[in-house]
Amino acid sequence: MSDVSQGPGWWQATDGRWYPPENHPQYQPPPPPPQPLSAMAAAPPAAAQSQDMFVGKDRSPASVLGLSIITLGIYYLVWYYKINNEIRQHDPDIKVSPGWAVAAISIGAILFFIPPLVSSYTTAARIRQMQLDDGQVQTISPVVALLLHIFLGIGYPLYIASQLREHWHGHRRIMRTAP
Ligand SMILES: [Zn+2]
Repeated sequence: MSDVSQGPGWWQATDGRWYPPENHPQYQPPPPPPQPLSAMAAAPPAAAQSQDMFVGKDRSPASVLGLSIITLGIYYLVWYYKINNEIRQHDPDIKVSPGWAVAAISIGAILFFIPPLVSSYTTAARIRQMQLDDGQVQTISPVVALLLHIFLGIGYPLYIASQLREHWHGHRRIMRTAP
């Protein structure tokens, strides 16, 4: 409170003194800014609109799974390297060594299969970070990805690849419509 008005919104009470706006009995706090409803739908952040931003390759989940089975898992390792590399290039805030990620899910299995589990989880977590950095509300669940990896192996690449494809699609849509 004060004996004189301190600026717009200040009001004089019955005691003759001036009070700040938030002390007024009928004061209503300003509404919070609206949240985007879905991924990059309303107003994409500036970063998502950048024309020279790196966007990952379009791969269908079915082809990732099919090629992995045909090559007895070799393609799976190549794919795993590529997606981690693409995530890193797309979002420089995300630090990952794609080579170590591949090592973790391949030779890492000799350590009681712990490194493959950790890496499968953290790769999903990186995708989630990438989605959150773009203001996306509906994100991948790293826990679901891990459970798929453990209980339904083929579910993991399908889930990961579909989340990635959607993310890259979102960027391509924005780039097409941007002036
Ligand atoms: Zn993005």
